[in-house]
Amino acid sequence: MKSAAFDYVRATSPQQVFELLAQHGDDARLLAGGQTLLATLNMRLSQPALLIDINGLAALHGIALRGGALRIGALVRHVEIEESPLVAQHAPLLAQAAPHIAHRAIRNLGSFGGALAYADPAAEWPACVLALGGTLVLQSAAGERRVAAADFFQGLYTTALRSDELLVACELPVAAAGERQDFSELARRHGDYAVAGLAARALRRGDTLHEVRLAFLSLGDRPLRAPATEATLQAGPLTAARIAAADAALRAELAPFADLTHSAAAKTQLAATLLQRALPRLMA
Ligand SMILES: Cc1cc2nc3c(=O)[nH]c(=O)nc-3n(C[C@H](O)[C@H](O)[C@H](O)COP(=O)(O)OP(=O)(O)OC[C@H]3O[C@@H](n4cnc5c(N)ncnc54)[C@H](O)[C@@H]3O)c2cc1C
Repeated sequence: MKSAAFDYVRATSPQQVFELLAQHGDDARLLAGGQTLLATLNMRLSQPALLIDINGLAALHGIALRGGALRIGALVRHVEIEESPLVAQHAPLLAQAAPHIAHRAIRNLGSFGGALAYADPAAEWPACVLALGGTLVLQSAAGERRVAAADFFQGLYTTALRSDELLVACELPVAAAGERQDFSELARRHGDYAVAGLAARALRRGDTLHEVRLAFLSLGDRPLRAPATEATLQAGPLTAARIAAADAALRAELAPFADLTHSAAAKTQLAATLLQRALPRLMA
């Protein structure tokens, strides 16, 4: 299918974007990499009257260390994250996750901000940003506001972004000494969306994990933390008994959605398997 006709503007400043959004409201859509938006237009799932191309906005590009945080611009392409030495050093979770996103051609165009704004519960970046305790930087004509990842992802394809706002960047705390980050997922074929995935980070001191943060993808309507499992894991040395208790806690607190190919029980089993495999790597 082909999309319905629409007007197109390549914005040259955030102010122009805010004016166009104010003028056109829900009839306008922001265009970043187009890897999701253009497919939804072609399938006529969405028929906006105006596309506002934001690729010319310099402030949304680039990866930099700023004020002790790693700031990744909304228009940074997946492939830039995959290849960035700054990301590899300060947020290795993202470097591990990037190759799991679709295929190279899509990673060349798809953007970090596009994936975060779209908030597909099967996407890698939302879970990574949640696991790392990231902050989303949003801008509108009224100014800037910052939203913690835990408050940003609100449901299926639903975020805290208002219709007059632009996602400008995401800031991630840089990895601390002794911090371990680990990303893994299970998909039917490489490049497919994950059936289940886990973004994990923790501080390792001796035989104990601290500040454990687990964020699962593809299990619910948004990326999901597992607080009871995290508490169990960090309550003392990571013995076989503690790992068994964490496994039981995870199975008790997850309530995954079934999808077309996997039941809720299968997804719970896959999530538990991902955690079992991640723990030795977090302790390594
Ligand atoms: C075949 C295929 C396989 C894929 N597999 C995966 C996968 O395995 N994992 C995965 O995570 N993704 C996958 N994707 C999606 C891909 O990662 C997209 O690039 C991403 O979801 C959207 O990024 P984009 O830059 O293309 O955004 P666009 O398609 O341009 O926009 C997506 C939505 O976000 C909004 N938006 C974009 N940027 C901003 C911004 N800065 N502020 C506010 N709103 C904004 C747009 O208005 C639109 O509603 C796949 C896509 C395809 C086509």
